[in-house]
Amino acid sequence: MPVCLECGSQIRYGRTDKKFCCEECKVRHHNSRARAARYFKSKVIAIINRNYEILDALLKDGVDSADLMDLMTMGFVPGMITSYRRSGKHDVFTCYDIKYIMTSTRVYSLMKIHNLSVNLQVGTDINDQ
Ligand SMILES: [Zn+2]
Repeated sequence: MPVCLECGSQIRYGRTDKKFCCEECKVRHHNSRARAARYFKSKVIAIINRNYEILDALLKDGVDSADLMDLMTMGFVPGMITSYRRSGKHDVFTCYDIKYIMTSTRVYSLMKIHNLSVNLQVGTDINDQ
């Protein structure tokens, strides 16, 4: 006998592929999944925004390169980016309008991007700015 995905009680009647015992369980289940997705997205955005604050503070101080471990100590999370592409020998990342090259130990060539429309085109070389 199938069991309700929300409350775990047995589903005694209805179609054999029924997933919920009642409408309330169905709504509760979908709401909690939507809530979990919203929470996940907000955590990702918070991390990316923190990365941005760190990189932006460097640029405002006139710094265009930094040790990756130092950045991570400040709260920078290397894997949270808004875009990535390989350009020649370099791994070029962006965090909103800041682009940089990142290796396993350093972030360098930090700079602001001024033309967003170019970067929205797939395969466009963001170094051509
Ligand atoms: Zn139920």
